[in-house]
Amino acid sequence: MADRDFTGKTAIVTGAGSGIGAAIARELGARGAHVIVSDLDVANADQVAGEIVTEGGKADAAVADVSDAMAMQKLVQTAVDKGGALHLAVNNAGIGGPSEKVGDYPTDGWRKVIDINLNGVFYGMRHQIPAMLDAGGGAIVNIASILGSVGFRNASAYVAAKHGVVGLTKAAALEYAQEGIRVNSVGPGFIETPLLSKNLDQDAIDGLSALHPVGRIGTPEEVSALTCFLLSDRASFITGSYHLVDGAYTTQ
Ligand code: NAP
Repeated sequence: MADRDFTGKTAIVTGAGSGIGAAIARELGARGAHVIVSDLDVANADQVAGEIVTEGGKADAAVADVSDAMAMQKLVQTAVDKGGALHLAVNNAGIGGPSEKVGDYPTDGWRKVIDINLNGVFYGMRHQIPAMLDAGGGAIVNIASILGSVGFRNASAYVAAKHGVVGLTKAAALEYAQEGIRVNSVGPGFIETPLLSKNLDQDAIDGLSALHPVGRIGTPEEVSALTCFLLSDRASFITGSYHLVDGAYTTQ
C-alpha cells in the first residue's frame, strides 16, 4: 500500500537488536525504509540489519548507548551520512531494572533505568528533531508501556520513566506540530521478548498473561504494526498522543 511505503525514508530504531525494536526494524525495512539498526549489542544489530538486507531491504547496523547524549548525536549523524537525511525515529531501547519496593529500591538501579528509559528518549529526540527539521519534517514514536499510565508494584523507576516518556512526547509534539514533525508514544502491554524471558520463568509469564483480558501477552509484531502505522502518512493527523496495544490490560 503506497501510504505505508517508506521508500526513500531513513529511519533510526534504537534497541533494534532484539524484541520489539527488531520487529519494528524488520517491518520498516520490508516497507522500503533505509533502517539504521541501533543497539548496544553489535552482534544483534548486525544480525537484524543483515536479515533486512537479505530480504532485499536497506539497513546499516550501528552501536549506540541511548544513555550517552554524544552517542545519540553521532547516531543521528550516521543516519544522515548513510541515508542522506533523517525522516523517522523509534526510541525503543529500554531495560526493566531492579524489582524492589520504593523503600528498598537501589539508588544506582533507579539512576540506570531513568538514564536509559527516560533520558535516552530525550537524548534521541534532542538530536533527531533538528535533523528532521533539515529534512522538512518527520515522525517519531517513543516506546513507553502500559506502565506509562498505570502503576505496577516493585517497578517504580520503570513506571516513573515510562510516565515521563508519555509527557515528554506530548511536549515535543506541541512544539513541532506546525513544523511537520509528529511525535507519538506507544504503550504495549506485556510482550513476548527477551526482556521478559531473561527475567521471568514460565510460571511468572503465565501469571502476566492472565492479567490481560485477551488471555495472553502480545507479540513484538503486534507492537510493530501500530508503530509503523503511526510513522506512516496514514497517521497524518495523529500527534502528541499515547496509543495502547495491550489486550485490554488498562481497561480493567
Ligand atoms: P529487549 O528484547 O530486551 O530489547 C531491548 C533492546 O534494547 C536490547 O537489544 C538491549 O540490548 C537494548 N538496550 C538496552 N540498553 C540499551 C542502551 N543503553 N542503549 C541502547 N540499547 C540498549 O526488550 P523489549 O521487550 O523489546 O523492549 C523494548 C522496549 O519496549 C523497551 O523500551 C521496553 O521498556 C518496552 N516495553 C516492553 C514490554 C515487554 O513486555 N517486553 C512492554 C512494554 C514496553 P541488550 O540486550 O544488549 O541489553
